[in-house]
Amino acid sequence: MRVLENFINGAWVASAGTTLLDVKNPATGELLAKVPLSTSADVDAAVQAAKAAFPAWRAVPPVQRARYLFKLKGLFDQHREEIANICTSEHGKTFSESFNDFGRGIENVEHACGIPTLLMGQNLEDVASGIDTRVLRQPLGVFAAITPFNFPPMVPLWFLPYAIATGNTFVLKPSEQVPLSQRRIFELIQQIGLPNGVVNLVNGGREVVEAICEHPDVKGVSFVGSSNVAKIVYRKCGETGKRVQALGGAKNFIVIMPDADMERAVQNAVESCYGCAGQRCLAGSVIVPVGDAYERVRDAFVAYAKKIVLGDGKDPATTLGPVISRAHKDRVLSYIEKGLQEGAKLVLDGRNATVPGLPDGNWIGPTIFEDVRPDMVIGREEIFGPVAAFMRAKDLDEAIRLANASEFGNAASIYTTNGKAAREFGARVEAGMVGVNIGVAAPMSFFPFGGQKASLFGDTKAHGSAGIDFYTERKIVIERWF
Ligand code: NAD
Repeated sequence: MRVLENFINGAWVASAGTTLLDVKNPATGELLAKVPLSTSADVDAAVQAAKAAFPAWRAVPPVQRARYLFKLKGLFDQHREEIANICTSEHGKTFSESFNDFGRGIENVEHACGIPTLLMGQNLEDVASGIDTRVLRQPLGVFAAITPFNFPPMVPLWFLPYAIATGNTFVLKPSEQVPLSQRRIFELIQQIGLPNGVVNLVNGGREVVEAICEHPDVKGVSFVGSSNVAKIVYRKCGETGKRVQALGGAKNFIVIMPDADMERAVQNAVESCYGCAGQRCLAGSVIVPVGDAYERVRDAFVAYAKKIVLGDGKDPATTLGPVISRAHKDRVLSYIEKGLQEGAKLVLDGRNATVPGLPDGNWIGPTIFEDVRPDMVIGREEIFGPVAAFMRAKDLDEAIRLANASEFGNAASIYTTNGKAAREFGARVEAGMVGVNIGVAAPMSFFPFGGQKASLFGDTKAHGSAGIDFYTERKIVIERWF
């Protein structure tokens, strides 16, 4: 069986780690590869390579650094279907979801191609008589990113293109559950001829994460994953004085006003909850129909959810793939049990879903609870599976209160035809990304991406102008010439 290697200093090398984990296709159970749990020595080798590459790389003019990214963008376009197929095999999402997953990643490469403009600073002549001031944006050194399982091609590309375009060097630790998309992406990166050590990849889990956070030569860390780990990474990086952006979990509320365009609103909300099997940080999780919209929304939502086709993501008829692993399936099932114990009403039960011919897939069908209260576990915690919870609100005020009671604040959406309601929701809801008649409020690469409260530890979001800020030191030069 193929054992994955690390990419360090321009070459694929065996990990020093002796523990290997299985990488399995979640739809078929097929063993795809073995991934090593690398050690702190592997991390040190990657960081030393990145550190050694930094002085020469930062001296490469931004316009030339951008040319590497133009090449990468071309290669990525050529291999988009191939990577999407790898993503579907290791993650389970449908082919079109994988195609769009990588597409969103490629958009970050495109945006970073504009680095000469993105790096321009500010200046002012005569801040005092004969004195000028200018702001330089400079790279800092070695940056690392630690990424989750749910968007295997995309999330690492929220970071890598900006890190290297700004003149830093980079170490990626992809999710050990889905290491194959990045394996292939790094093979393509290898073809663009970057100097050795500018980008590196270390497979593994907790030991690698801890070694990155503690390494004295890592200047900054981007983390995306669950809030518990985000908090650990944030704290550890703080202790060692690193820059850190740690994007965490979510519990996203979707408010549907009685005046909404019901058909489109419900269809969109269903897609938000069940797309990527609910394993999206922007997935709808709690549906809040307002006032007398409740019964209409619930009935249409259930009817639409029943049309979802569970199956292998490679089958074009499939609209809902498996969840990532047997362990994660058990976790989602335990949330459903908990909801029942706490008195929520199960109106659609996906627990016993099967797919003919695929007995080893991690299947859970669309599941819907109603009478969910904000104090219930299924009303509070992130389930990260195809489970939607209905809550009631008598008016917009109450709906906003429900959403704001959540410890998370990643995204929130409102469906309405009333501009005033939409404006008020946008102003008052405590979420970093707000959708108005949009169920998955995902900012594109040229805008910042990130939440509030327990959904983001740190003060810089990912990509867009926030990405450039994260990866650069703004040095202020105040000058007078005698
Ligand atoms: P996870 O927290 O289990 O893992 C994320 C990364 O942390 C992985 O690389 C993993 O190897 C590492 N890790 C796991 N446990 C660790 C530990 N104890 N110590 C150190 N490192 C550890 O998350 P996941 O299950 O891979 O991904 C799903 C989570 O990611 C969800 O909570 C989802 O909301 C979140 N997510 C958030 C965003 C966002 O933009 N806020 C985007 C995508 C996913």
